[in-house]
Amino acid sequence: TKSLSTKNRNISTSVTLAITAKAKKMKAEGIDVVSFGAGEPDFKTPKHISDAAVDAIEKGFTGYTDSSGLPELKKAICDKLLKDNHLPYTAEEIVVSNGAKHSLFNALQAICNPGDEVIVPNPYWVSYPELVKLADATPILVETPESNGFKYDIQKLEKAITPKTKAIIVNSPNNPTGTVYTKNDLMEIAKLAVKHDFYVISDEIYEELIYEGEHVSIASLGEEIKNLTIVVNGMSKAYAMTGWRIGYTASSKEIAQIMKNIQSHATSNPNTIAQYASIAALKGDKKAIQEMKDAFSTRRDYMVDKINSIPNLSCRKPEGAFYVMVNISKLFGQVLNGRRITSSIDFAEYLLDSVKVAVIPGAGFGSDDYVRLSYATSLDNIKEGLRRIEEAVTLA
Ligand code: PLP
Repeated sequence: TKSLSTKNRNISTSVTLAITAKAKKMKAEGIDVVSFGAGEPDFKTPKHISDAAVDAIEKGFTGYTDSSGLPELKKAICDKLLKDNHLPYTAEEIVVSNGAKHSLFNALQAICNPGDEVIVPNPYWVSYPELVKLADATPILVETPESNGFKYDIQKLEKAITPKTKAIIVNSPNNPTGTVYTKNDLMEIAKLAVKHDFYVISDEIYEELIYEGEHVSIASLGEEIKNLTIVVNGMSKAYAMTGWRIGYTASSKEIAQIMKNIQSHATSNPNTIAQYASIAALKGDKKAIQEMKDAFSTRRDYMVDKINSIPNLSCRKPEGAFYVMVNISKLFGQVLNGRRITSSIDFAEYLLDSVKVAVIPGAGFGSDDYVRLSYATSLDNIKEGLRRIEEAVTLA
């Protein structure tokens, strides 16, 4: 038999999937599992958005669209970028895709050549290194340690830059750490990008979910950095629209044209009905977003306080997104209920087996000292789940 694609065979399946799959199976068997694994809002898409989709279907707006998206949606995105981010873009600089993940894929395909390096923060969102590899480039992991607020350390960052550096990924608010970069932080990164002439892929998908501070787009810090930045955003997290699959980029016209060409052959256009729903989301009332945000904020406060009260666990208070990175390094070497804990995977398995709580091991994000807990679940679940975790870490 002929061999398979070497490049694509090297794309890993998610380490985190194993635990999530096991938790799902236990739930299906009727076991009362509390899951902190969610990567999506636990709210329904607001009704005015769903109604716009139904309306589009009934009106027969169900054909292909321009491969980079409906003109009306691109206009709504330009209006949003100007109003919320002080970013003037024209419609030709916008490409709408099947989710922000697809936008990231297109962006990396558009700029990378074999041998290029792309700087990725570590802890990283699981897909970044794989998306870089899919573009024939090499992910260069740069530590963003808890001691530095889970942000890039500018000196270490500069040391990682080589003539092969093609781009850096900046993700604020961040998954998995919840960290939000300040304007000053971003200014430092922007200076490096301009000085060494590389692109910035700015993943702003969690923009709306900030509880302290404000969101700044790195592209808004000057004309030079704007020209080097590909802004990535989408509907999933802000509007509870993960399943609708709409994301977008804002970039130079040249990069946008390449992304549009790639997309025209790969997927034609993003789902037409979901595009109509997205217009309603961007133009519509923001009350539902504010309500979600308020709920997330309350849960975050509870979660952070509770975790820091549990012996041997600690966490930094994240400013955004809906994740908390729990430092579990003090547990390493300890024996809990007959089980020696030496890694985040051990601990995650131990929690699932002993108290039926599912968390995501940090090993999946390149950071074995942590487990990630999502608070995109009800306050009742959070209370019960943390009660069980406390029980599990105090079982001798
Ligand atoms: N970027 C980050 C950091 C994410 O966490 C996610 C989703 O989990 C995405 C991008 C992709 O979102 P979507 O493809 O649903 O728009």
